[in-house]
Amino acid sequence: MPEPDIGNRPFTGFPFGLSKTTYEQELRYLPTAELEDALEVKRWLAIEPECTEPQVQRYFAYQIEVILAELHRRRVLQRNRRDHPLVPAWNGGDLRNNRERIERVKARWPIELFLTQSLGCKLIPKRNRQFVTNCPLPYHDDSTPSFHVDTVKNVGYCFGCQRGGDVIELTRWLLNNGTFMDALIALEQEGQTYDRINTRSITR
Ligand SMILES: [Zn+2]
Repeated sequence: MPEPDIGNRPFTGFPFGLSKTTYEQELRYLPTAELEDALEVKRWLAIEPECTEPQVQRYFAYQIEVILAELHRRRVLQRNRRDHPLVPAWNGGDLRNNRERIERVKARWPIELFLTQSLGCKLIPKRNRQFVTNCPLPYHDDSTPSFHVDTVKNVGYCFGCQRGGDVIELTRWLLNNGTFMDALIALEQEGQTYDRINTRSITR
């Protein structure tokens, strides 16, 4: 993979006052496997026909560059100083535990269930198991359905406010830019509530 060049080019295209630096800092808390997933999702979204606007394309291009730069940084750190304190702990034994938690949360909350049950969204069918709905994310008063949902990829993306991702990423937005772990814990707790409600209705 070629080394990413994030250079000195100024970029002000991140919405809601998020800067490239903020985005870079946020990525440092994500496990490597999640970064690789995010990269795949961004690359997939970037070739969607709805994403033809140059501004949107530019936004994706920068996100992809920043993710590649972070992955590269980790590879270099791991290669040079395997026990360097800046190498996220997630690359060690914790990764497997978190990976299981991530899978559990995603299995518990498929995107369509999360949107309808947890956020009260009304999903309008589109094509190939895709839907649109009004954007449920904070700071976006969406009068037309701008939020696109792909139940196969298990992701959603808003073409109005240019935010989206899987349930964990969406929860981070809902928690007002919460950390990855905040979102994971919130979803696990919601899942437990959902379990209890289900059990109750079954035993009645
Ligand atoms: Zn939106």
